[in-house]
Amino acid sequence: MTIKLCLDCDHEIDLGLTPTMGQRVKCTHCGVILEIISTDPTELDWVYDGPAVNVDWGKSWWRLSTPSTDR
Ligand SMILES: [Zn+2]
Repeated sequence: MTIKLCLDCDHEIDLGLTPTMGQRVKCTHCGVILEIISTDPTELDWVYDGPAVNVDWGKSWWRLSTPSTDR
């Protein structure tokens, strides 16, 4: 079992037996959503919600508001 401390309130967060990259966990104390960004060692980071999630900023961010014209 892996325990990490919440980045916001230092409350212990149980990551389960096998933390995986990209896994999201919620602090039961303050409710913040954190994401596992590394598993060796296990590191948490804040999840940045919004329309830009999972966007490749290098080449396609401007397509967000463009209707898909793919055939
Ligand atoms: Zn917290």
